[in-house]
Amino acid sequence: MITNRQATVVIDLDAIAHNLQYARELAPASRIMAVVKADAYGHGAVEVARKLKQADALAVARAGEGVTLRDSGVGGDICVLGGVMNREELNLASVYELQVVVHTEEHADLLRSARARRKVWLKIDTGMGRLGLRPETVAQMLDNLPHQKLLGLMSHLANADDVDDPGTEQQLLQLQTLSQELRPGYEGTDVISLANSAGILNFPSAHQDWVRPGLMLYGASPLRDLAVRTELEPAMQFTAPVIAVRKMSAGESVGYGSTWSASEDCRVAVVAAGYGDGYPREIQPGTPVLVNGERRTIVGRVSMDMMTVSLAAHDSVAIGDRVTLWGAGLPIEEIAVSAGTIPYTLMTGISKRVRKVYRGEE
Ligand SMILES: *Cc1c(COP(=O)(O)O)cnc(C)c1O
Repeated sequence: MITNRQATVVIDLDAIAHNLQYARELAPASRIMAVVKADAYGHGAVEVARKLKQADALAVARAGEGVTLRDSGVGGDICVLGGVMNREELNLASVYELQVVVHTEEHADLLRSARARRKVWLKIDTGMGRLGLRPETVAQMLDNLPHQKLLGLMSHLANADDVDDPGTEQQLLQLQTLSQELRPGYEGTDVISLANSAGILNFPSAHQDWVRPGLMLYGASPLRDLAVRTELEPAMQFTAPVIAVRKMSAGESVGYGSTWSASEDCRVAVVAAGYGDGYPREIQPGTPVLVNGERRTIVGRVSMDMMTVSLAAHDSVAIGDRVTLWGAGLPIEEIAVSAGTIPYTLMTGISKRVRKVYRGEE
C-alpha cells in the first residue's frame, strides 16, 4: 500500500522542460537528443519523454527501454545508444522504429545477415576507449553497410567535466577530421554528435550538429567545478517523513556502531528514508538535510529504512513532517560529494519503494 507517510520523490517536469530549453540556449545551432536512459535517470522515462516534446529526438541505452517508451505511446525519433545485440533486438528496433547505434563489426554483420534496413548512427571511439569503431576502420565499415540510412557519426567525450582538459578538443578534432575525409563519398557523414551535458556546458566548440544532454535535463551539473553557476533547475525533490522525535541526554548515542553521541541534551528526529530507499550510506558526518527549510545534519549511521537528524532547540518538528534529503535548496551535487559519488548514481539509485509524484505532467 502506498501512503503519504513514505519516502517520496517529487518530479518537477516543468523544471525538466526548462532545462531542455536552457540546453537549447547554450547550443542554439544544434539539434537535441534528450537522453532518457535508465528510466530517465530515475525520474520516470515515460513521464519525462511525454514532457519533452520539444526535443528533436530521445535516446535510451537499450532496445528494451525504447520499446517501453513506444508501448506507452511515445512517438518521434528514439535512438538506442548501446546498439542492438542480437536478431531479437534488431527485430524490436524494426518493429518499434528505433534508431540504432552501430559500434562494432558484429552489429554490421547482424544488419547484413538480417537484410535489415535501419536508421543508424556510427559510433566512433575518439578517446573514451569504451564503445566505438576506430576511425581508420570506418570507411570500410560504411562500404559493408550500403543499405543502411546513415544519420551521422557519433562519439562520446571522456573528460568534458574538466574545462581545462585538452582531451576534449582532441576528440572533437578527430571526429571532424574523419567527417571531412568521408564526406565526399558517404552520405550522412557530414552530421556529427559528441557533446553530453558536460560538453554542452563547458565546450561550445563541441556542440556540432546534435547534442545529447542527460544529467543537465534533470537539473544537476556534471562539472568538476561545482562553483560554476548554471541556470539548471533541480527536477527531483527527495523527501521523507519524520517518524519519531527523541529526547537525548548528553552522552547517549544513536544508531549502528554508536558512531555519534549527544554532547549535550538535545532532540533527534528519526526520518523514514535510508539506503533501502536510495539514500547513500557512505555520506560524511555532518551531511545536511532540510528541516522546515533550514539545514540540519544527519547524525549516526544511515540505516536501511531510516536516518537520524539532530534538531536545533527552537525547531518545531512533529511526526509526519517532511524532511528534504536533496532538491531545491539542497543540491544533489553536494550530497554526492559528501557520499564520494556523483549525482548520476544518486538519481538512478532511488529505489522502487519510493513513491513518485509528478508536477507539470502532460
Ligand atoms: C548517457 C549518455 C549521454 C548523456 O550524458 P550526460 O553526462 O548525462 O549528459 C550522452 N551520450 C551517450 C552516448 C550516453 O551514453
